[in-house]
Amino acid sequence: MITVSNLCFQYRQPIFEAFHWHAERGERWAVLGPSGCGKSTLLMLLAGLKLPQRGEIFIHGERVVRPRPQTGLILQDYGLLPWATVRENVELGLKVRSFYGADGIHAPKEPARLQNTDFWLERLGLTAVADQYPAQLSGGQRQRTAIARTLLLQPDLLLMDEPFSSLDAPTREGLQTLTLELAEEQALTLVLVTHALEEAALMGNNILLLSQPPNRQAQVIENPNAGRPGYRESTEYAALCRQLRALLQR
Ligand code: ADP
Ligand code: MG
Repeated sequence: MITVSNLCFQYRQPIFEAFHWHAERGERWAVLGPSGCGKSTLLMLLAGLKLPQRGEIFIHGERVVRPRPQTGLILQDYGLLPWATVRENVELGLKVRSFYGADGIHAPKEPARLQNTDFWLERLGLTAVADQYPAQLSGGQRQRTAIARTLLLQPDLLLMDEPFSSLDAPTREGLQTLTLELAEEQALTLVLVTHALEEAALMGNNILLLSQPPNRQAQVIENPNAGRPGYRESTEYAALCRQLRALLQR
């Protein structure tokens, strides 16, 4: 699904140097590392919003040279339009796509199909607030609106950059569980960036650990039982958190 090959990327300072990484279709990855290590940069590269100076990124065998329509991207600050209702915000991505087309150049001949809006509003628990504006919503509802908007576009790959870090703990836990359910239901490949080791341990069946740049080698930790019922309370989860804490303190 995702192949990162010999990736070199730098701003003024190098962030990735001859970096390799591979993720299979349907896998759920957490990308964990301290602030400034290059997590967001990696996500922007995967999204096709930044391009490597050397090396390649392939998704489904196709080289990423621009944003691809089947990649969904969700950021911390939601990116909602303040003057549009929840329903209008959810429909926004599809309307943009119907105007510019899946390739961003050619408008499709068929008009946008918006019949899935109600399904996604319902699935994300937004039906009751569909006609409200973002300022009237809680942080959790705003993030669920952003998720609904992205899933309406039927992505096969979902990239999330610290999506829950500004939410209170109960809301965050609810959205973590919901995201795992949605990834399963929609057969998504998930790449979730976080600086919180507990979140990485909870959400990632594989954890990609980045360190102070430049990142040369991917350090991967397997976590096959993440997402199983009761995992949050398990001794395995607690042990993994201890392991990750020690690795991050090195
Ligand atoms: P993370 O998401 O892990 O906190 P980033 O990928 O945002 O890290 O940034 C990695 C490093 O690159 C940081 O040192 C950051 O200051 C730097 N950086 C990020 N974006 C830019 C930019 N547009 N120009 C110059 N330096 C940047
Ligand atoms: Mg970041």
